[in-house]
Amino acid sequence: MGETKYIFVTGGVASSLGKGIISSSIGKLLQARGYKVTIQKFDPYINIDPGTLNPYEHGECYVTVDGHEADLDLGHYERFLSIQTTKANNITTGRIYKSVIDKERRGDFLGKTVQVIPHITDEIKRNIKHLGSKYKFDFVITEIGGTVGDIESLPYLESIRQLKWEMGNSALCVHLTYVPFLAAAKELKTKPTQHSVKELQSLGVQADILMLRSEHELGASIRKKVALFCNVEEDAVVQSVDVPTIYEVPLKMQEQNVDKIILRKMGLPIGKDPELVPWKTFLCRRANATEEVTIALVGKYVELQDAYKSILESLSQAATYNDRKLIIKYVQSEELTDDNIAEKLAGVDGIVICPGFGSRGVEGKFVATRYTRENDIPTFGICLGMQCMAVEFARNVLNLTGANSVEMDEKTPYNVIDIMEEQKAVTNMGGTMRLGAYECVINPNSKVYEAYQEEHIQERHRHRYEFNNAFRNQYENAGMKCVGTNPESDLVEIVEIPELKWYIGTQFHPEYSSTVLNPHPLFLSFIKAAINK
Ligand code: GLN
Repeated sequence: MGETKYIFVTGGVASSLGKGIISSSIGKLLQARGYKVTIQKFDPYINIDPGTLNPYEHGECYVTVDGHEADLDLGHYERFLSIQTTKANNITTGRIYKSVIDKERRGDFLGKTVQVIPHITDEIKRNIKHLGSKYKFDFVITEIGGTVGDIESLPYLESIRQLKWEMGNSALCVHLTYVPFLAAAKELKTKPTQHSVKELQSLGVQADILMLRSEHELGASIRKKVALFCNVEEDAVVQSVDVPTIYEVPLKMQEQNVDKIILRKMGLPIGKDPELVPWKTFLCRRANATEEVTIALVGKYVELQDAYKSILESLSQAATYNDRKLIIKYVQSEELTDDNIAEKLAGVDGIVICPGFGSRGVEGKFVATRYTRENDIPTFGICLGMQCMAVEFARNVLNLTGANSVEMDEKTPYNVIDIMEEQKAVTNMGGTMRLGAYECVINPNSKVYEAYQEEHIQERHRHRYEFNNAFRNQYENAGMKCVGTNPESDLVEIVEIPELKWYIGTQFHPEYSSTVLNPHPLFLSFIKAAINK
């Protein structure tokens, strides 16, 4: 296509309006027209990455193939577009400042006073343009975290102002706002939107497309009014009304010609509307799936929707491809005991033992893995979940009393999950785990192989502790097989009990690589087993 085009997605009025879904949907529509598209997110906080943030602060920490701990919106980008993102797709204020300060220490600024403008804004602009110039994307969509009006977003908005000025119609701004419905007055209110657009204008940025989030349909007169007050063309005022699944949003955007408006504004040929056949087929199967499959998620963040985002999405994709409607039952692991486990898991078809850190709630996970093992309920242990399967098996089958992960008990007599050698000297918490994609070789004689139909796979990791190979023979002889290993380090990546219907634990996180059009084979096979139970 030649020169890269840049689309900035900003938000106003309130947070959590779904900028990530809007960015992904726009990306999806442009990609369906044959363009090479990527999406990046700028987060205006000082942490270098969200790896050190707890899930209450930031929801799930997503991991890219190149081992970057990233914002969960990158998960949406990958699931919608079936692309792989990298470290360059998620930048925080912390990283921008760190890079500028490192340059200052090296003396790169040749005696100049280092300031927010131009040095911080130049670093932001460099990171925005980097994806386009280095990887030759046709479109780079840049989502700016937070809302217009936040002090911490100012350098980003100033960078957008400069880039729009420099690039002319090769850059545009999509601004997402909220239109509340006042029940007492029975009216939709556009004033917050008008204020938010004005705030943006006061920073020198004119929105080119307005996306109005609302719980109700907006009539033509509302759009007309917003267009008039906000200097936006009428057809570029688009509504985003709640839909049953986020995966319908691209179609809603297409109905309102969002992709065509973008192409028109950027002076690109418009051509035919893409059919999006596989996408629509997926949605159709999802809408038609009425029979249910119930999966319990055993974890300690059950009250937090976003903490297990990628697992939920992977399960729901796999349910759709098995023509089932997914019902999730959240089970707080801290509350589980041998006495209440049967009641807590009553009626579930399968359970996922969630990833996690620290000892809170871990004993409950041992209770759950024991119960599902003894009652042959399909069980999927992910990362800490897999480690719990191993610990429980050691205690109750290998009779290794007090067996544990050294993360939970440094003095355990049986360290069946141990700290990796190279982790022992690590003192910094940020970005120092075993992170990113590693190869794994699968034993062809396993359920896991039946699912993958492949011997060599690559999956993403985020952990410090490992299955201890000193105990491997004992496990194998007693029926828990190590069916996936890293070819270089011989680390155990997958365990399974072949005697059971589906009892599999993975040290890696398969949920990071399941997408709408390429659902993950392990999730597909797990849901199938849950249905057949
Ligand atoms: N806490 C465990 C470890 O660090 C598991 C991590 C996880 O579940 N992501 O090894």
